[in-house]
Amino acid sequence: PAKRLSRVRVKVEVGLRLVEMMFHLLDQPETLAEKSDPQDLPDGPGKIAFDNVTFGYQPKKPILSQFSLTFEAGKTTALVGPSGGGKSTILNLALRLYDPQAGTVSVDGQDIKHASFETLRRKMSFVGQDTFLFSASIADNIRLGRQDATDEEVEKAARDANAYDFIMKLGEGFNTRVGENGAFLSGGQKQRIAIARALLRNSPILLLDEPTSALDSQSEHLVQEALQRLTAGRTTVIIAHRLSTVLHADQIVVIENGRVAEKGSAAELLDQPGPFRALYEHQYKAALERE
Ligand code: ADP
Ligand code: MG
Repeated sequence: PAKRLSRVRVKVEVGLRLVEMMFHLLDQPETLAEKSDPQDLPDGPGKIAFDNVTFGYQPKKPILSQFSLTFEAGKTTALVGPSGGGKSTILNLALRLYDPQAGTVSVDGQDIKHASFETLRRKMSFVGQDTFLFSASIADNIRLGRQDATDEEVEKAARDANAYDFIMKLGEGFNTRVGENGAFLSGGQKQRIAIARALLRNSPILLLDEPTSALDSQSEHLVQEALQRLTAGRTTVIIAHRLSTVLHADQIVVIENGRVAEKGSAAELLDQPGPFRALYEHQYKAALERE
């Protein structure tokens, strides 16, 4: 891991473009190479389609088999279901961290296997459970979303991410240097930095792996509100743990054993017995009662 980190740091210095996705690549073993004749993704609204996708990290052990699912442009889809079911794998494939062994993942009708990295990255933002912060000012960390953003744009993104107030309380505001990997920031604060970054980048597609780690309720509310601003009008795929996030989604998809066990709106899924209602009754009701 230390080696990987130092490799990352070298890349940070070589060019921020290379680390545009680094915050989530950190725990990925390798990145795929760009095809020799890469094509630009069309300027569409960002509809993602998995079509008969078969994939396993080891080809002989498929995690997804002939998996098909569409993520409609501009809508939010919540992926829920038991741990190990394949939710993160779906995000990994959408980001093209891996290629399927069979079938296609396409964005606006184009197979992403052939897409240029440049357009893939411009189309997509990822906010994960761990936000990668490097040892630099808060402003530079937010600017990782878009290098040529002005100070005003950075500040606006921070405001919309509900990060402005806590930043202004730091010793030197936006010029405060964060420690190695954001040492002195709380989990919720780091997440709001990540959201500010994604707001700056302004990509049509958002892939979010919502953290399970308990944020304090004040922070959770601020993060939730910032997320709503971020996801409005974008194609969003969110691995959701909090009931509030799930209920905000346009579509809920229950993933079990690499399959779509059930999908629909919250109202539809709660209206009948099934995997989502079972999940709701077991997981969320208990959480609601605790509150
Ligand atoms: P979820 O996000 O729903 O918890 P994952 O997509 O992370 O599920 O995992 C699906 C399956 O793939 C699990 O059996 C997990 O152990 C396996 N898996 C996940 N990542 C890797 C990896 N990098 N290498 C090998 N197996 C993996
Ligand atoms: Mg996961």
